[in-house]
Amino acid sequence: MHTIEPSNIYDVMILGGSYAGLSAGMQLARARRRVLVIDAGQRRNRHASHSHGFLTQDGRPPADIAADGKRQLLAYPTVTWREGRAEHAEATASGFGVTLDDGSVFHSQRVILATGVVDELPPVEGLGERWGASVFHCPYCHGYELDQGRIGVIATGALSMHHGLMLPDWGQVTFFLNGAFEPDAAQLAELARRGTRVERTPITRIAGVADVVLADGSVHAMAGLFVAPRTHQASALAGQLGCAFDDGPMGQIVRVDEMKATTVPGVFSCGDAARAAGNVAFAVADGAMAGVAAHRTLMFGLPQAA
Ligand code: FAD
Ligand code: MG
Repeated sequence: MHTIEPSNIYDVMILGGSYAGLSAGMQLARARRRVLVIDAGQRRNRHASHSHGFLTQDGRPPADIAADGKRQLLAYPTVTWREGRAEHAEATASGFGVTLDDGSVFHSQRVILATGVVDELPPVEGLGERWGASVFHCPYCHGYELDQGRIGVIATGALSMHHGLMLPDWGQVTFFLNGAFEPDAAQLAELARRGTRVERTPITRIAGVADVVLADGSVHAMAGLFVAPRTHQASALAGQLGCAFDDGPMGQIVRVDEMKATTVPGVFSCGDAARAAGNVAFAVADGAMAGVAAHRTLMFGLPQAA
């Protein structure tokens, strides 16, 4: 057993201090609850120079949005910030215990998991270093800035049909199948109806801003590229706590109800960790709900196990 220091007992521990976690913390801080935010500082959008689509913050650097949120949250006296990585989480007799990578241990009555996901890009040479600069996954976030120019979709599997059919609303689309996927006759007809050109020659590498170099030596200059990455949970914490997962189209997500409660009483999850296709606005909304919902259980108790 660890000795529990009084200063290490919080009402709520928020694991992950980006948009979702900060927003959850804001609700709890404004209820004067004792909150500990533990954050490893690896936001999913850290490779993007600008963030789009979040009202009042459109076009700002994503780090600035997060920094403003952190400053506003830490203005509340009941909030403590801890830099570091939560390595292990478990239920205890009175709540939850979390161990950090430096060995320190913290306890709380409730836990909010806002740890996000990690993107797995396909192994195309030159793709990774352009991620967030000229290679994207979200048309709403980065499509507008391509000025209706030439857009390349690099297939990762059947899910890329979605990009192939959507992106003609943002430019002239070439769908590079790259051996990852072969549309059937009906899908080819749908792509043709949307004006998407299909290219089957394999990709050798990406060069320049977004030039697609094919195995036959041809170079296709694009304004930007879209790829549908697989994702995985950024931490093992939800699994350690025994939370159930759902299979999303891109990867596993933590199962939550409309109050952002996981299947484990007292554990909530919000943001990309617990939704199939996230963005900053959704993370902030989910976080607000998780914060309010966790507070509700502090006031009125946890629901009886079914
Ligand atoms: P994240 O922002 O990913 O934050 C999770 C936090 O938890 C990180 O700080 C991480 O280090 C921390 N963490 C993880 N594990 C642990 C642990 N074990 N212990 C402690 N801390 C931990 N959305 C938009 O709305 N507009 C855009 O323009 C946009 N552009 C994007 C561009 C790119 C290239 C990418 C990849 C994404 C983009 N997004 C955009 C999506 C956006 O980044 C996510 O939806 C958003 O970051 C989700 O917020 P979150 O708080 O759930 O998770
Ligand atoms: Mg977060």
